[in-house]
Amino acid sequence: MKKSPKKKSAPKRTVRRKSAARPKVKRSQESEPDRRRRAARILAALRETYPRADCALHHRSALELLVATILSAQCTDERVNQVTPDLFRRYPDAKAFAEARPDQLEALIRSTGFFRSKTKSLIGMAQVVRADFAGETPDTMDDLLKLPGVARKTANCVLGTWFGKNVGIVVDTHVGRLALRLGLLSSARDDKDAVKIEQDLMELFPRESWTYLAHALIHHGRNVCQARKPQCAACSLAPECPSAGTFA
Ligand code: SF4
Repeated sequence: MKKSPKKKSAPKRTVRRKSAARPKVKRSQESEPDRRRRAARILAALRETYPRADCALHHRSALELLVATILSAQCTDERVNQVTPDLFRRYPDAKAFAEARPDQLEALIRSTGFFRSKTKSLIGMAQVVRADFAGETPDTMDDLLKLPGVARKTANCVLGTWFGKNVGIVVDTHVGRLALRLGLLSSARDDKDAVKIEQDLMELFPRESWTYLAHALIHHGRNVCQARKPQCAACSLAPECPSAGTFA
């Protein structure tokens, strides 16, 4: 009996995963002076649209703001604001946070996500504040960066919002996205390149505006220039924005 020829197995197809493409910075031909002038007009438009833009996290002290900012990582400010009233009642100062039982603190902040690592950060931060700063939240970038769970973004927020010190610019997801769409980046690679984004913005905007700028951009990013559906038609920055109307 004639053997039937062996069927050749189909060549395996290599399935390539789509990488989550980050929008890259498109280098424009705009000169540095022109970019500076446009940045000034953007700042003026923001001041007109949001004359009182401020931090959305509820707080009554530097420590409360520090705690709320740590909790706001990967979480909405609304959610943090729901958690903090009870939290601050139970833990009114650095000593109370430093001596907190991790399981009890975890239960209180669970809904903000990443609650185990946030608990470690809160207790660790409070222990250093108590031991090295006599229970007072430090007011310099160098000292804030010594606290567990505190990076530049959190330190900038506390320094600018509570202490009124414009040391840097808070770069969160909204600020990164808007800086990219508004064509304000000269050295950053993309909208997650936080260190360079901060440097680019600091070079473009006057120091006295840094804290305000971040709060206003965050507000604008939440309400108008959302990640998925920016509302360019209703945007007060549209005349100065190279991305206006480019979203399908
Ligand atoms: S014009 Fe559109 S892309 Fe530009 S800032 Fe406004 S909403 Fe965002």
